[in-house]
Amino acid sequence: MLLYLINPYNPLVSIVKSKLNRWNNYTVWKPLGLLVVAGLTPPDWEIVVFDENVDRQDYSALPSPNLVGITAFTSQADRAYTIAGEFRRRGVPVVMGGIHATMCAEEVSRYVDSLVTGEAESVWENVLNDTIQGALLPVYSGQQTNLSKTPIPRHDLLAHGYRFGSIQTTRGCPLSCNFCSVTAFNGRHYRHRPIPKIIDEYRMIRERLVLLVDDNLIGTRKEHISRTKDLLRAIIASGIQKKWIAQVTLNFGDDEELLRLASEAGCIGVFVGFETISTEGLKEIHKPFNIRKLKGIKTAVGRIHRYGISVVGSFIIGLDIDKKHIGREIASTAKHYGLDAINVLFLTPLPGTRLWDEMESSNRIILKDFPRDWRYYTLTFPVARYGHLSWLEMIEEKDACFRGFYSYGGILRRTWEMIRQLHNPALTVVCNLWYRRNTLRLDRQAYETFDVKPGEVPLQKGWMENDSDTRGK
Ligand code: SF4
Repeated sequence: MLLYLINPYNPLVSIVKSKLNRWNNYTVWKPLGLLVVAGLTPPDWEIVVFDENVDRQDYSALPSPNLVGITAFTSQADRAYTIAGEFRRRGVPVVMGGIHATMCAEEVSRYVDSLVTGEAESVWENVLNDTIQGALLPVYSGQQTNLSKTPIPRHDLLAHGYRFGSIQTTRGCPLSCNFCSVTAFNGRHYRHRPIPKIIDEYRMIRERLVLLVDDNLIGTRKEHISRTKDLLRAIIASGIQKKWIAQVTLNFGDDEELLRLASEAGCIGVFVGFETISTEGLKEIHKPFNIRKLKGIKTAVGRIHRYGISVVGSFIIGLDIDKKHIGREIASTAKHYGLDAINVLFLTPLPGTRLWDEMESSNRIILKDFPRDWRYYTLTFPVARYGHLSWLEMIEEKDACFRGFYSYGGILRRTWEMIRQLHNPALTVVCNLWYRRNTLRLDRQAYETFDVKPGEVPLQKGWMENDSDTRGK
């Protein structure tokens, strides 16, 4: 039995950029979800994983498999349907899972034979058995998994060429920001994998740089932090010499022991979701956890730096309270905090979030010719009507923010600061130059493909690859 597992591309975020600049390869993450599904698949199935973010395939030149499994974030959905159509025309059954299949089940079911909603672990065996019987069900509803029972993902199935290895140690997030679909998909209950299994998997990863893909590595409660410290002690005791980056909440900077262990275990950088610079903004997006931390951010960032760990802050533009000059304000606040790099995204109503429900019910979503328009849901395109900013102003504010933060003077100052504190500045320099180049040049090129008339829905003048007409059967 032959199984193809496919991660579809989105030309706005993957192939195009990685071909333009080799540094963009640092933004291509492994499709870990597919490797988990491969780990759940018995050995009598031959498995081939295709990651279109790295390489495109001519599927028509390949042998027909017995089953195709596709995963997709919302921004990949349109391409996923094109791939599904290609295989279904050849009589190959297609099953789709992942966050978009869970949040837009009705839409997805129009383009595939079967879909898996939620986490795949509890139902994947049934999908394979029913495929053999020729009796695939239209929907398999996956439950939240007991992570002590999940197999180790099949890292061996992906080719070389990725800058980062990937590993997941927890699922779920105890917070519930209104724009985020993590809690709707993985739940608020913070589940963690057994530490010995994580170490076994960590040892198998061949890349020297690793991304810990957990939405929140450390959690928010005392017991979460304590479990993270146990994990870090186990990594140190294993003697595995890798460097890693993780996503954490602001409380990471509160605990000296946690910082010391993270540094000894190989942590070189953390992504922190600041989201917005004001209490009002945090109230608007329902992230009260950060309000309590607002006053101590500069001190916490300084403490993290003392352990040789860089801090990349993520911010959102497009909140109802955001007005003209918000870009410059974010840039100067980020400099005041002492952040090493920032990433700025547009507020995007993703299906399954409370933000989607709010914007949809008030008719504020403007790019909604679905499934075609899902390709703009990369968080780097304004897709809605925003409180005080037009489509063009949103882009101008993002530009102003990046110009303010990533000026050459600013990059030099941050690099010098790292050297002064006796830290290796390589990560900061690479990160800064990459963001400067990407946002000021590549994203701008993509925005310029739009026709924007005041008061009208922006339309793209010419799509990079017109594959929409091959969707479906
Ligand atoms: S803290 Fe991060 S992962 Fe958790 S709900 Fe908010 S945005 Fe999502």
